[in-house]
Amino acid sequence: MLSQNKVLNSGAKRWGLKLGAQSVVAGTNIEEMVKSVKELNANGISATIDNLGEFVFEKKEAIQAKKKILAVIEAIYQHQLDAHISLKPTQLGQDIDYNFCLENLSEIVENAYKHNVFINFDMEDHGHLQSSFDLIDELSKDYDNIGTVIQAYFYNAKDVIAKYKNHRLRIVKGAYKESEDVAFQDKKDIDQNFIELIEYHLLHGKFTSIATHDHQIINHVKKFAKKNNIPTEKYEFQMLYGFRKDMQLSLAKEGYNFCTYVPFGVDWYGYFMRRLAERPQNLNLVAKQTFNK
Ligand code: FAD
Repeated sequence: MLSQNKVLNSGAKRWGLKLGAQSVVAGTNIEEMVKSVKELNANGISATIDNLGEFVFEKKEAIQAKKKILAVIEAIYQHQLDAHISLKPTQLGQDIDYNFCLENLSEIVENAYKHNVFINFDMEDHGHLQSSFDLIDELSKDYDNIGTVIQAYFYNAKDVIAKYKNHRLRIVKGAYKESEDVAFQDKKDIDQNFIELIEYHLLHGKFTSIATHDHQIINHVKKFAKKNNIPTEKYEFQMLYGFRKDMQLSLAKEGYNFCTYVPFGVDWYGYFMRRLAERPQNLNLVAKQTFNK
């Protein structure tokens, strides 16, 4: 798969942001990321910050990632950013050794807890699902500043959301290629499950992040929340950095809580390729960025 191509990935680390990635990746270092988050905050938009990187197979690399995330927590605190963290367990050693990964995550969650920063565990492909939930269960015994993601394409998503209803949850359609043994393949089925999961968590859950660029879903949620008197403090909309910027701003102006997913770092290649694969029209965005110099 292009997004997992090791050679291209390591080349990309040296290139800096290329191929139009600068429109959807908020810089390669903490300084650039802080500047981007401050701009969002000035427009009434909060941020969830992702230090890019995934599918790490070396302990050294996982420890580097941990240190970087600790530095991001420090930056959130120092700059008083309206922001929290999104992280991927595979970046912190999930494929190396479960206990090593748990140790790395404990250090991050503990540090974030002390700084009053929330940590979201992004959800990756099906092969990592169970071990990610195990990590979350373990850490939830001691900390309440963690939440995760429910992917609507999985057949069992409704069982999972019922189990985690006391967590702050981000609900998404799902970004990885999954087999029909475990996941809906048809857009109509995924959208239907997505809506039902959102409605369930709005009614019964702690806090809901509705993460989508789909205006039809967003309009449905607005109407549903109004009809069921769901207070705006109980939910937010989320979109990725650089996508549908006008809609991000207008939802925030309308008074909805809005949070932008802000990826940054040298490891941008896999993230960028997945966004292109999801929606080839995103190439338009890239083309504009490349040619409108
Ligand atoms: P789509 O189904 O891609 O699009 C539906 C319709 O919306 C399109 O037909 C079009 O009309 C409109 N539309 C969509 N994008 C645009 C655009 N750029 N411009 C104009 N119109 C558009 N996935 C995971 O598996 N794990 C995660 O942890 C995860 N975290 C995420 C966090 C955030 C904040 C977001 C936004 C997504 C995340 N995803 C994650 C990805 C998600 O699962 C989807 O793959 C991705 O969001 C694409 O689906 P969609 O709901 O945005 O709409």
